[in-house]
Parts: sequence; C-alpha cells; structure tokens
Amino acid sequence: MYLKRLELTGFKSFAEKLGIDFVPGVTAVVGPNGSGKSNISDAIRWVLGEQSAKNLRGAKMEDVIFSGSDRRKALNMAEISLVLDNEDQHVPVDYSEVVVTRRLYRSGDSEYLLNRQPCRLKDITDLFMDSGLGKEAFSIIGQGRVEEILSSKAEERRMIFEEAAGVLKYKFRKQASEKK
Ligand code: ATP
Ligand code: MG
Repeated sequence: MYLKRLELTGFKSFAEKLGIDFVPGVTAVVGPNGSGKSNISDAIRWVLGEQSAKNLRGAKMEDVIFSGSDRRKALNMAEISLVLDNEDQHVPVDYSEVVVTRRLYRSGDSEYLLNRQPCRLKDITDLFMDSGLGKEAFSIIGQGRVEEILSSKAEERRMIFEEAAGVLKYKFRKQASEKK
C-alpha cells in the first residue's frame, strides 16, 4: 500500500484544484516559507478524519477553507481526496485502489466518501484501523511527536505498538462488545 495521489480543492492555500502524484519510496516536499508545504500534511491528516482545528493550525474548522487572496475571492468548500494504491490488499477491501474524500462547506455541512460513495467517518476509521494509516497512526509523525512518543506514558506508548502490530482493532471490538 502506498499514497498514490492527493487531490486538493479549496483547501487552505490551494484554491484551484490540484493533483499531486506520488511514487513508491521517499518524497520530499520543498519550497519557500509559507508556500504550503505544511498545508499538504494538514490535508492528509484532515482527510483521515482530524477533528481538531488546532491540530490543523487553525482556530476553527472553517479555517481549512480557502479564505481568499489578493487575486481570488474566498471559496465555500474545501475538498481533499487521498488515493491509495491497494494492489497488495493491505487495506481489507476488494479494491486495488482506495479513495478517501472529505468535504467541508462554509455552512458547516460536511461529507465523507469512500471510493466516491458517501459514508460515515467511522467507516473510514474502521477500515484503516491497524493499517498504520489514520490521523493518530504512526504513519503521520508531526514535529515534536518523536519526543512525545519517547516521553509518553507506558500505556500511551503501548497503543502505538498495538497499532503497529495490528491488534488494536481486536481490542476496540472487545471493548465495544463488553459495553453491550
Ligand atoms: P514554512 O516553511 O514556514 O513551514 P510552509 O510551506 O509549511 O511554510 P504553510 O504553513 O503550509 O507553509 O502555508 C502557509 C500559507 O497558507 C500562509 O500563506 C497562509 O496564509 C496560507 N493559508 C492557510 N490557511 C489558508 C486559508 N484558509 N486560505 C488561504 N490561505 C491560507
Ligand atoms: Mg511548514
């Protein structure tokens, strides 16, 4: 499984629809200060369900929608699609490509889609649980997070290892059935 493509429309500094293609291996994003490098990692975090505006470096969720510039007026919707190559069936679905989409309108309405079909956020988090993907997963390590991992409590550190080992979903299912 690898990140194949990211499509951004109206997200933060990316007003116009933009597709970024990735290839397997290491990709480095370079550019001057303020050119939108961190906005790309924010987009990945957001499409995977990030609910905290602060984690996306904003004050409120609406701040992810393009707010206008000297040359362009503000937009009413932000949309990100993340395309994963799933030829190896790492994500347990029968598709060789998995597309996750999140949309947010200024009105506050939001939508999630899986392979272009509307779904719940829970469907996305369930699908990616234990795959190493997800807003809290080990696939995204932000600035300061390395230190956080090293100094976090044993219990919290255990979560990271359980996710990496692929047993987290069984733990959550067990907890859910115990509640019933
Ligand atoms: P640095 O090298 O300093 O880390 P960077 O390339 O990571 O910079 P970003 O933080 O990704 O830069 O981008 C910041 C830019 O995004 C700023 O110019 C900011 O005005 C713009 N921006 C953020 N949110 C929005 C928004 N909602 N609408 C329009 N522009 C936005
Ligand atoms: Mg940055």
